Amino acid sequence: MARSGMSPRMLVIGLDAADPSLIEKWSADGVLPTLKRLRSEGYWVKLRHTGEFTSSSIWPSIYTGAHLGKHGFYHTTQIVPGTKELGLLKPERCGQSPFWRDLDKSGRHSIVVDVPFSYPRADLNGIQISDWGSYERFSEPRSTSREVLTEIDRRFGRYPVGQEMSRNAPVGKRELQRRRTQLLAGAALKGNLIKWLMSSRPWDFFMVVFGETHAAGHSFWNFGSNNHHDSFDSKALNLTTTLRDIYRAVDGEISKLVEMLDERTSVLVLSGHGMRPNYAGWHLIPEVLSRLGFLVTGSKTSGNGIRAPERSQQLRSLLPLNWRRSLSRYLPNRLRDYLTIHWATSGIDWAQTRAFCLPTERLGFIRINLKGREPNGIVEPGLEYQNLCDQICETLKQLVHPRTGRPIVGEVFYTDHVFPGPQRDCLPDLIVDWRHEGEIDEACSRQVGTVKASSPDLRYASHSPEGFAVLYGRGIRRGYASTGHILDVAPTVLTYFGLQPPSYMDGQAWANPFGL
Ligand SMILES: [Zn+2]
Repeated sequence: MARSGMSPRMLVIGLDAADPSLIEKWSADGVLPTLKRLRSEGYWVKLRHTGEFTSSSIWPSIYTGAHLGKHGFYHTTQIVPGTKELGLLKPERCGQSPFWRDLDKSGRHSIVVDVPFSYPRADLNGIQISDWGSYERFSEPRSTSREVLTEIDRRFGRYPVGQEMSRNAPVGKRELQRRRTQLLAGAALKGNLIKWLMSSRPWDFFMVVFGETHAAGHSFWNFGSNNHHDSFDSKALNLTTTLRDIYRAVDGEISKLVEMLDERTSVLVLSGHGMRPNYAGWHLIPEVLSRLGFLVTGSKTSGNGIRAPERSQQLRSLLPLNWRRSLSRYLPNRLRDYLTIHWATSGIDWAQTRAFCLPTERLGFIRINLKGREPNGIVEPGLEYQNLCDQICETLKQLVHPRTGRPIVGEVFYTDHVFPGPQRDCLPDLIVDWRHEGEIDEACSRQVGTVKASSPDLRYASHSPEGFAVLYGRGIRRGYASTGHILDVAPTVLTYFGLQPPSYMDGQAWANPFGL
């Protein structure tokens, strides 16, 4: 909301995958004094969304204000429409503009740093830096300004945290200790970079995302309470407090940034999703589809564009699981994702397959081999497609864990219902969310029988659909709302600047923090 006589400014600080329940607990305990102050003096909003928002879609949904049927980002490795190939996500392919483009058009200067899955647009009225210190990086650091990038390199050097640690191999104590040191150093270095940019360049809107909270969540969640960690003394190694220490370090950086703000600048601190124990069952879906006869693998067909199983798959099947895990440990994650799906799809008999799985890290992604859309599609659009989706959905919902008798699937989302839009055909057709009641290493039903497999993703934590936002500053009222959505962030920021949110945005601006 533009206040008369003063042109407003806003600093947005993203805490990637920072968990709202930890923020509440540790701000109450005094561990996070800055967030405690912002919460008590500002407007605290619980951001909730249903499980169909994938972790890769969170930041694009926040910065475009549009759902993934419009922006099209659901995973770092996505199917290339019209092919059976998989490609690594390219931020430039985002089907919708970031909201700072609207600020741009109104003459505001923006500085945007490390917003995940975004890229520096050459025509930006300001500075954007991508892939410098974000949690997932798609390239070497990039910027709208070569001069700024050179100066950052000279003053701050490289961001100290490497790409994510292995997901499917146990991580040793030395690696964890090194990661702890790197994350603490990364938070401090990013804070210094932001302070320098804030004080040396003009801006009306500044947005930065700290990725350390995301990396720490996956690597140090519940550390010390899990038997897997008992092989070494995690307490003596400071690993049990690492997650808290990293949240505290980021809180300290927020404090320094907030101290620099003048009276016409408000701050918005936010996270679009949180963390919880890693209970997912996506690895069981291929076997379920196979038993239903919908996914057919292993036949050596040729011609008509259908490939025979390739050597990499044959090699893979000869390797024991622990060998495959240790091999994958030395592959960069992106390459590993690519190889995983290459292996996973190269043996598919497309002439007989009606449904198949796409790469994922939490949700199940099922795509129908649809005629007219897939190169070798065999399922007719319309009734046949619909019946197949219904049948898969029903089957998945009937699966229970044999030990508990409890269903393993929480919800199956039909993409046509939840994410219609121009990017619809890039997406899976069905998105499967889990009940998150315990490890899903087995499932059974009368129709399917029993399928068993441990998850190849050994990380202790994955994402919950709960985030938060706290607004603080002049003109922002104190208060609390429990009904925010990640899609509300973009229209809320534009409304703060007195701009009308574009009609493609799916969320609603929050009126209460501004007293509207
Ligand atoms: Zn994650």
